[in-house]
Amino acid sequence: MKKRCSIITTVAALSALLLSLSGITSGSPAGPSGKVQIVATFFPIYLFVENIASGISDIEVTLLLPAGYGCPHDFSLAPEDVKKVHQADIIIQDGLGMEPFLPDLLKPGRREKRIITASDGVEAIMAKFRETGEHLHDTGTFQYNPHLFASPREAARMVANITASLAEMLPAYAEKIKENGDNYRARLEKLSREFADSLKNLKNNRVITVHEVFEYMGRDYGFEILDIIEKEAGQEPSAREMMNLAQRIRSEKVAALFNEPQYLSKVAGVLGKETNLPVFMLDPVASGPPDPPLDYYEKIMSENLKTLIKALK
Ligand SMILES: [Zn+2]
Repeated sequence: MKKRCSIITTVAALSALLLSLSGITSGSPAGPSGKVQIVATFFPIYLFVENIASGISDIEVTLLLPAGYGCPHDFSLAPEDVKKVHQADIIIQDGLGMEPFLPDLLKPGRREKRIITASDGVEAIMAKFRETGEHLHDTGTFQYNPHLFASPREAARMVANITASLAEMLPAYAEKIKENGDNYRARLEKLSREFADSLKNLKNNRVITVHEVFEYMGRDYGFEILDIIEKEAGQEPSAREMMNLAQRIRSEKVAALFNEPQYLSKVAGVLGKETNLPVFMLDPVASGPPDPPLDYYEKIMSENLKTLIKALK
């Protein structure tokens, strides 16, 4: 989301700190609490892992970004975040360039880390709207849209990926991990079927969103993201971009504009008013409360489905 106000440290400047930390943490299979320490990079990943590790008291799952932050696109690590990464036994990330800070932190030779990439093996969409952000240049994966989690179908696949890798890395807990993971995946697949069934035969399937977060949802359930308001996350459009958007909305008969709680666009309302376009709120679950109930994703997505039906049917 927006730039964080805490101490911002560049990845390059962190290497000295990492060297000093490695002496403290290396060689310990579990963290200071004696539990297996899993760090999930941001909220949706955390929520998935919490479900998969539910009821296993020897596993502790923590979040790297604050729960309410949103996508890590422009997140800068503070020294305490770096410490968290280096004390973790397992790190679980989205991948596809969503966490541009991780590759540098975890280069081979610094400290071997067990990383699970939830997006492994999925059919990724090319990022068609995003201008290449300054933080994304050297990840090599910035050309893909990393927002899989905002589609229940892809969320179920991510859960399957995490479950399989985690069961392999933690054989002592594999049985419970698989049981939890399979149950959760089945719940997400059921949610996905509800989306597919409810969004058949849409009256008008063309929408505008704030950032590129709903492309997988659109692909999986049959609506098209014609354009986005913020070409770079957190940045409102220029007057010229506003004019182009308004023109597109009129000429291409867009059905609705979706604002997002994590990237609340101030101009969405203005644009909607000017073009007589209904504006709705759609929550991609990029963020949430610090201690979410295990069915948080399903609850929010069910609300989203009601909104989509109202806007597009
Ligand atoms: Zn995002």
